[in-house]
Amino acid sequence: MGRLEGKNSIITGAAGGIGLETSILFAQNGANVLMSDINAVQLDKAVAKVKQFAPNSKVEGFVCDVSKEDQVEEMVKKTDAWGGLDVIFNNAGIMHAKDDDAVNTPEAIWDLTQNINVKGVWFGCKHAVLAFRRHNKKKASVINTASVVALVGSATPQLAYTASKGAVLALTRELAIVHAREGFRFNNLCPAPLNTPLLQDWLGDDKAKRHRREVHFPTGRFGEAIEQAHMVVFLASDDASFVTGQEMIVDGGMTKAYVTPE
Ligand code: NAD
Repeated sequence: MGRLEGKNSIITGAAGGIGLETSILFAQNGANVLMSDINAVQLDKAVAKVKQFAPNSKVEGFVCDVSKEDQVEEMVKKTDAWGGLDVIFNNAGIMHAKDDDAVNTPEAIWDLTQNINVKGVWFGCKHAVLAFRRHNKKKASVINTASVVALVGSATPQLAYTASKGAVLALTRELAIVHAREGFRFNNLCPAPLNTPLLQDWLGDDKAKRHRREVHFPTGRFGEAIEQAHMVVFLASDDASFVTGQEMIVDGGMTKAYVTPE
């Protein structure tokens, strides 16, 4: 038996990075997975990859822009025919190259970032709650991807992104309290900088930019998406039945470090 046997699950931002690794682990642990992403081409490839790693699992793709409520509603309703949603991982997010400090961040980038990173998570939570109630679920799990930048300040600013992840932390915590008696758990995943395209494409070959970040890791390396996925499996599973409203920090000790080893 897998740890998520028979759990009907949605993963947003499933075409890459954390979302794809989590989809694979979910499927291998017996979950039925609706993989969702805005990028249809990448999503098709990702669904094929998950089927390759978990050939006996039920896995489907669904193209959805999480900043559009009608699309999120349709995505969640897709799992009605499966017996109702049990788990949603609201993971889709962007970090825009033009995101900067208070002076230089363009307003359009601020709005775009909040629309996807905050409103998208809210829509996912809203329609998940409606689905849990529709199917009379007595236990369900929502995991929202925030970031360590919601917890510690950074001298390499991405103000819109940081503000958006702080909002995810706060709204998740509140929903955990509001819905606790219904059996719906809400937790945050706070990843440190990772080896995923979101960050690595942006760092490119710039060694100085890379070193500026790597030096803060006690472990001396960026994290891997799979290391986040293991935490998400735990939070989704009944093993985490008394874990709600938490910030689960998967960062190799980064946010606890002062001087790191040479
Ligand atoms: P990624 O870029 O590999 O994956 C993000 C996915 O979200 C992509 O497949 C993209 O197509 C999708 N997406 C973007 N806009 C969307 C929209 N409007 N609707 C639906 N899907 C959309 O990045 P990742 O590193 O796997 O990031 C996943 C989450 O983790 C994000 O919320 C990100 O902010 C967060 N995070 C990442 C890091 C890191 O270093 N990679 C660190 C902390 C937090």
